[in-house]
Amino acid sequence: MLRSFQKLDRNFPKFSVSKLFQIKRHHSAEDLDPDGCGLDPFDVSFNSPNFPMSSTEMLSKDETQRLTSEVEHILQSKPTYPSVKGWKFTEKELTRLLSNRTHSEDLALFKTAASATEREFGNETYFRGIAEFSNKCEKDCKYCGIRRSQPIVQRFDMSDKEVVDAARWVSEYGYGCLLLQSGERKVKKENERVSRLIRAIKKETKSETYPKGIGIILSVGEQKPEVYKEWFDLGAHRYLLRIETTNRDLYHKIHPSFNHSFDTRVQCLKSLRDIGYQVGSGVMIGIPGQSILDLARDLLWYREMDLDMIGMGPYIHSQHTPMCEEFEKDYWQAQNNVTNRDDWDWHDSDFSQYRDMEKWKRYRLALRMIALTRLMCFDCNIAATTALQAIDPFGRERALEIAANVVMPIVTPKKYRKNYVLYDGKPCVEEDKEECRGCLQARVTSIGKRAVFNQWNDPPHFLRKQIHKK
Ligand code: SAH
Repeated sequence: MLRSFQKLDRNFPKFSVSKLFQIKRHHSAEDLDPDGCGLDPFDVSFNSPNFPMSSTEMLSKDETQRLTSEVEHILQSKPTYPSVKGWKFTEKELTRLLSNRTHSEDLALFKTAASATEREFGNETYFRGIAEFSNKCEKDCKYCGIRRSQPIVQRFDMSDKEVVDAARWVSEYGYGCLLLQSGERKVKKENERVSRLIRAIKKETKSETYPKGIGIILSVGEQKPEVYKEWFDLGAHRYLLRIETTNRDLYHKIHPSFNHSFDTRVQCLKSLRDIGYQVGSGVMIGIPGQSILDLARDLLWYREMDLDMIGMGPYIHSQHTPMCEEFEKDYWQAQNNVTNRDDWDWHDSDFSQYRDMEKWKRYRLALRMIALTRLMCFDCNIAATTALQAIDPFGRERALEIAANVVMPIVTPKKYRKNYVLYDGKPCVEEDKEECRGCLQARVTSIGKRAVFNQWNDPPHFLRKQIHKK
């Protein structure tokens, strides 16, 4: 096991992408491959033997072949191209595909998803700037780094001017859309502020390129239908609200009961759709207590809800949250029968290795979920989320190569970023918006994709629904 981690470290140097390109340009093949192992350490595409292996098993050739044909058999039983609605899978097929054990099974799945993505989007990638405009939150989600009882966070609100400046920047740099995200606050004053921001952004960003201003996406939690309606009428046209998990019991386990309800969340998504928003949702992958069957059901739920956008990523521990502490406690109780928190050895190498292994498992599962989402909902916009990059420095590229078509560079001013850390190791916290722009563009280009600028880039799924309605 240790060997594979060492291999991982070598394959995933912690440089910025521009540094990576510089190095690539100035060094010969021998310099890049000092061990003479024949691998280009910078080639980490999902097709490459460098792809992180730590969460898949090394089985015999025969066994690997048998498992891979099982996967191919399921995929080949579907129509040649995903039909307009996407492929239909049974719960059993989905659990099988999510349970891949080898890289070669994953490869069969990823390649099929990549060709569906290419068929719908070519090599195009859509950008949206994300402004995390406040970390004040009424909710107390047990996994989240900005939950209301999180002790170590300094609470902030970006000023209206800072938000509008960010919007102007987004429009000048051609991202086309701004996502306004914050913690959840249902108070009237805050809702009025969101209305004010929508009005100001629309006014300030109208131009020849954007006759209606830049597109506005909201992600500000559960609100009353009339509030959603007001924001829609003012010009916000997309809304993101993750369901986190569709297993109702698990949902209630990871959210305290006093102000969270699964039914309310689903109801919010339905009213957003009825109002006319393009609706996005998604789940966290690898939540403690979540099963493969839960994830298969999540995928079926995406179709049932007829979503336009899907954003999901691996669950990542966030220090000092109940879910993270629970995980640590379980480990120590199982391993050492240690019950007193003061006796836990935080730096024990077995523990960190165990935690890392868990992390890579979630990462792999997340890529499978993204691949299957593309096959099932083939014309939806799917985001390559930052959480993937928190595990694998090239995580967002992998998602884009396989199935995602949207990236969201952060445009929050640098001074606020360290207080919008939802999970440990969130990337881009030490960067500013110019750096994020250059970095993400380089990332997209490095895998042969092309950024589409100066357009809203609505999800084709939504546009098709509109045409069918007429
Ligand atoms: N208040 C908004 C936005 C919340 S934060 C809303 O309710 O929609 C955005 C997302 O970050 C959450 O929906 C959740 O899926 C994700 N997130 C939070 N904590 C996380 C963690 N520890 N690991 C991975 N994702 C996390």
